[in-house]
Amino acid sequence: MNILILGGGGREHALAWAVKQNPKCDRLIAAPGNPGIAQVAECAALDILDGDAVAAFCGENAVDLVIVGPEAPLAAGVADRLRAAGLLVFGPSREAARLEASKGFTKEVCDACGAPTASWAAFSDLTEAKAHVEREGAPIVVKADGLAAGKGVTVAQTVPEAVAALEAIFADGEAQVVIEECLTGEEASFFVLCDGTAMLPLGTAQDHKRVGEGDTGPNTGGMGAYSPAPVLSDSVQKRALDEIVGPTLEEMARRGTPYQGVLYAGLMIDNGRPKLIEYNVRFGDPEAQVLMMRLGGQALDLIQACAEGRLSEVQAHWADDHALTVVLAAHGYPGTPETGGIIQGLDALPETSEAMVFHAGTAESDGRLVAKGGRVLNVTARGSTLREARDRAYAMLDRIEAPSLFCRRDIGWRAL
Ligand code: ATP
Repeated sequence: MNILILGGGGREHALAWAVKQNPKCDRLIAAPGNPGIAQVAECAALDILDGDAVAAFCGENAVDLVIVGPEAPLAAGVADRLRAAGLLVFGPSREAARLEASKGFTKEVCDACGAPTASWAAFSDLTEAKAHVEREGAPIVVKADGLAAGKGVTVAQTVPEAVAALEAIFADGEAQVVIEECLTGEEASFFVLCDGTAMLPLGTAQDHKRVGEGDTGPNTGGMGAYSPAPVLSDSVQKRALDEIVGPTLEEMARRGTPYQGVLYAGLMIDNGRPKLIEYNVRFGDPEAQVLMMRLGGQALDLIQACAEGRLSEVQAHWADDHALTVVLAAHGYPGTPETGGIIQGLDALPETSEAMVFHAGTAESDGRLVAKGGRVLNVTARGSTLREARDRAYAMLDRIEAPSLFCRRDIGWRAL
């Protein structure tokens, strides 16, 4: 089977690493890929937001299955274009991808199907939005509607903070904003494969969004993650499936826009009761790194069954294991990161089913590996306990020579 993975981050390296282990995988191509992915796949320069170009590339290269990594091609309708060309695709249609692209849409779907989520109101007028905040009081959550790469949300502890967030969102004129009740509890991520009708839970994870130790400082794309998430016990997962994910999928099917791909539910769990914070329509990054490390080659069987509408025929086989990933990011991140820093020592590290360094923002320059900026490497390990996985990951990380990179030393602290 010839497989094309769209994307070039740590998530896509983890996907490529897992898929490649499956004997069914003949040819593996990634677009655009990265230097780490290049060790397991061919990398192709391709505009992954251009559905016509991707479809033509698939035709020329006899691609059987396309796995879409990031959200942008999904929101741009690339999966629709590929399906129209008769290709097998893992990833939702543009309409179904609105579950991530529009917070207002997701809220409306939740209300229609009775899925528990924070109470909310949407506004396109600044004065009305401010009046709402003043009526409701703080804490309160202000969200710009649309894909904002994790930067459009303010959890305001005071009314003036919420008003300032609204003013920033409306600064350029027209805007859509969602204002929500502030939920309390513990956050965790729940991944579910959906083929339009059937669903299959695909593991749990927790990530560390803040740049600083003790979960402090500005938000990032994620500084580390671990799987499984203890707070998502079997009973909480069952509630999340029965009360949130299942009803959402039924509602999407009822609207004639069935969801196909992985649905990533960001949940707040309070006293065993899950509520939906947000949906993402793809694997998380860095959560995919820990999920793929735990799943290995079977990931391809599950992804293929999902794309073919055969999910009810397959099962995920989980070992009683744990995985943890630590992100090495370039100094300056999440602001303006330093670029070009040299990375050494990776060649001497093990690459096994228990220890892998997944590349994100790396590049090759004059035969040397350098940091391209942002999140650069994901040092990932598996163990029979979370502590073992953590110790293994940090032991590897300490052998990497990269003075322009930094990491958090406390990944997994909550669960440990
Ligand atoms: P990302 O995709 O990067 O997680 P996003 O921009 O899509 O971010 P959300 O996930 O909706 O935004 O919110 C970001 C974070 O803000 C959440 O992970 C959560 O910590 C916090 N948050 C969002 N909504 C609420 C809420 N109603 N109550 C409490 N905290 C919230």
